[in-house]
Amino acid sequence: MQTQIAPQYRADPLVGEAESILRDCVHCGFCNATCPTYRILGDEQDGPRGRIYLIKALLAGEQTTETTRLHLDRCLGCRACETTCPSGVRYGRLLEIGRHLQNQALPRPPRAALERRLLRYVVTEPKRFRAALGLGRVFKPLLKASLARTLPPLPAESPDSARSEVAVASSAGRRVLHLDGCVQSVATPATRAALARILQRLGVDLRSAPTATCCGALSLHLDAWDEARALMRGNIDAWWPYLEDGAQAILVSASGCGSVVKDYGHYLEDDPAYAAKAARIAEIACDPSQWLARELGARSIPGIARGRIAFHAPCSLQHGQRLAGVVEGILTRLGYQLSEIGDAELCCGSAGSYSLLQPQLAAQLRRNKLDRLEKDEPKRIATANVGCQLYLAQEARVPVVHWLELVDEALVDVGTP
Ligand code: SF4
Ligand code: SF4
Repeated sequence: MQTQIAPQYRADPLVGEAESILRDCVHCGFCNATCPTYRILGDEQDGPRGRIYLIKALLAGEQTTETTRLHLDRCLGCRACETTCPSGVRYGRLLEIGRHLQNQALPRPPRAALERRLLRYVVTEPKRFRAALGLGRVFKPLLKASLARTLPPLPAESPDSARSEVAVASSAGRRVLHLDGCVQSVATPATRAALARILQRLGVDLRSAPTATCCGALSLHLDAWDEARALMRGNIDAWWPYLEDGAQAILVSASGCGSVVKDYGHYLEDDPAYAAKAARIAEIACDPSQWLARELGARSIPGIARGRIAFHAPCSLQHGQRLAGVVEGILTRLGYQLSEIGDAELCCGSAGSYSLLQPQLAAQLRRNKLDRLEKDEPKRIATANVGCQLYLAQEARVPVVHWLELVDEALVDVGTP
């Protein structure tokens, strides 16, 4: 796709990057078939190809409007279109740049800007998120029903989830780091606890850097790039002593965060002080499924039938990290019977802050997803990202857990494999 770049953008490297992505698009429209918003709304401008044209118009300097913003805001950033695209168009990055340019050309109205700032302020820091959750539960009866439903239960702080000071001390055993993150560390601490027990059985020590915090995903999605990059630098500083001490990997058990940490190298490539470290972090960051598939692959595990479950593969896992089928393979090997899920490539509607900012579309996507997940009457639904887990759990008829909890249960039964 050829683009005429407006004179004011010609020297901007971001625009150069967007132009090179646009060049790959042959406007075939295959991507529309797997776009959740196009499938619901049926409007070309609510599909990837239409949004690509809107971004192209922005680069050409055409006047942008609130209608352009509406179509870009309705995009989930799920990247199903990237998986489908035969030309390898990096739509996710193009969307980030497009939204950024759009907000520069036409700033958001003050109320919407404040709403997004508040969201970032609360969610990206675990202590603030915990306090907000506590307050929300106290005042739940006064909240709008749609907002009250979004409140997850507030689990008690457990020693496993506490972000206590962990000394960097050399030890002979194998060790890996975990990103506890912001929302997951507060709302679903059972995920980290399960991973720690699994790894302990495999002879691997799981550590957390106490000053590591939010991965930067929410700030990125809400177009606060400087804030996102500051969070990334903070995490690199927090992790670096552990890597020098021999930590072999950074396991990120929230797949949404994992897909961002794996891109740290890209986001900090122009920062001379952090570029090399960011590239190293990106190299050793992995989803626990990658680590466990390798670890369990060489071991003999007795097959015990464990009943039916439904696995929801988050977009960040299947489209962002391109790890479709890995978790499913592990769970099947451990004896779980997995349901076939129709339209498995479609988003559940959670998508970072999407369910809060686009509640109607998100709710429709969740209903469609739950209809498919619950069709074969599974005992539980498992997933790999805290956002999907919390969002699906609000309406699911069966418990929604992180898949690591299922692995933990299975390994308790078989003992150390
Ligand atoms: S499938 Fe790829 S090449 Fe075709 S319109 Fe979509 S983004 Fe462009
Ligand atoms: S990221 Fe998802 S919602 Fe956005 S255009 Fe691509 S498929 Fe559609």
